[in-house]
Amino acid sequence: MFSRRELLAVSAMGAAMTVSAAKAGSFGNPDEPPQGAINAKGPGNLTDPGPQNPVLGSQFPSAQAAPATDVGGMPLTWASFNNAPKRIQNGGWARQVTVDDFAVSKEISGVNMRLTAGGIRELHWHQAAEWAIMTYGNCRITVLDTQGRPYVADVKTGDLWYFPPGAPHSLQGLGPDGCEFVICFDDGHADEFNTLLVTDWLAHTPPEILAKNFGVPADSFAKIPLHNLWIFQGTVPGDLTADRIAAQKNEPATPYPFTFPLGSTTPFRESNNGAIRIADSTNFTVSTAVAAALVTVPPGGVREMHWHPNADEWQYYLKGKGRMTVFNTGPEALTMDFAAGDIGYVKRNYGHYVENVGDTEMQFIGVFRAPRYEEFSLSDWLTHTPPKLVAQHLNVDEATIAQWPSNRPGIMPKG
Ligand code: MN
Ligand code: MN
Repeated sequence: MFSRRELLAVSAMGAAMTVSAAKAGSFGNPDEPPQGAINAKGPGNLTDPGPQNPVLGSQFPSAQAAPATDVGGMPLTWASFNNAPKRIQNGGWARQVTVDDFAVSKEISGVNMRLTAGGIRELHWHQAAEWAIMTYGNCRITVLDTQGRPYVADVKTGDLWYFPPGAPHSLQGLGPDGCEFVICFDDGHADEFNTLLVTDWLAHTPPEILAKNFGVPADSFAKIPLHNLWIFQGTVPGDLTADRIAAQKNEPATPYPFTFPLGSTTPFRESNNGAIRIADSTNFTVSTAVAAALVTVPPGGVREMHWHPNADEWQYYLKGKGRMTVFNTGPEALTMDFAAGDIGYVKRNYGHYVENVGDTEMQFIGVFRAPRYEEFSLSDWLTHTPPKLVAQHLNVDEATIAQWPSNRPGIMPKG
């Protein structure tokens, strides 16, 4: 008998006859309906004589030659910042993937931004909640809560921030080399290039109103920018405590931090097989609209088969190579390949797993538009159901079921 992967390799070479004898015993779904390379007979089925871009195509082996178990026509679960156009200004750049770019991504849009040391993302606010993870360097954030209490903090690689909808905020790169981060908005339509900017508002308010509003002469606004700044180069901010005191005035401090050190927290689940770290409103109190899971999987390991009942999962791949299959009724099963900088998306309740198919650690963060992180594990369900019942469904004997993990391992090893 062949393993599934061997069958895939063999069928990809066009030797369909070799696998036909093995398939009946090894596979169920691919035979009915007759879909997939394993069912292809005769020459020409598996070749692609048309135009090719081998550099691009070779990065998607699962699309080029799908596993025999894939079936149906699910919308694409893959997008990437790697091919998203950058808007570059002096001080940094940003690029985004919204629902306009990635049709399935209705609950979350993503932004990847770089700020130089001293580079400023100007003071602004917007309709959506803003959740972010730092992927490089150091950044100073400022935000005001609804009771006028300011919060100023520095974040480093692995840290998160969360700004509620409408809360005014800013970001600025620190030394030595600024920062890079990924922002998620809790709305697939949210657009980083269309936020409410402080410079725009002042430029479009009559000077005499500015004079009344701020209680100073109108001519003190003579030099305000006529066009917005969005991202611009500033001076590297100094001591954090001094900035905090300067912003605080006579207001009390905010009761909750708007930042969270996810990368250095104790994992929710951890073993030699990897780790899962969670940040949601239970431990990151202000993050009432967004939950996240940072998943680290060793080579050959698999983020176990599971689903999420309360939200879609928007994934950002931080490192390594992942291969994810998403399952839905139909049946539909779609496998795609993910590398650093790529985005994955799984609609709520769709079953999925992510395998580390590289030879280095694979890490991604799953982001959910929900106050709490929630999941159902397939093995946890099937080991907490009467074994006789499960055995009758799957033609697997009870002794085998007794060996399945019943402790929600999260990540399973190479095996
Ligand atoms: Mn913002
Ligand atoms: Mn998941």
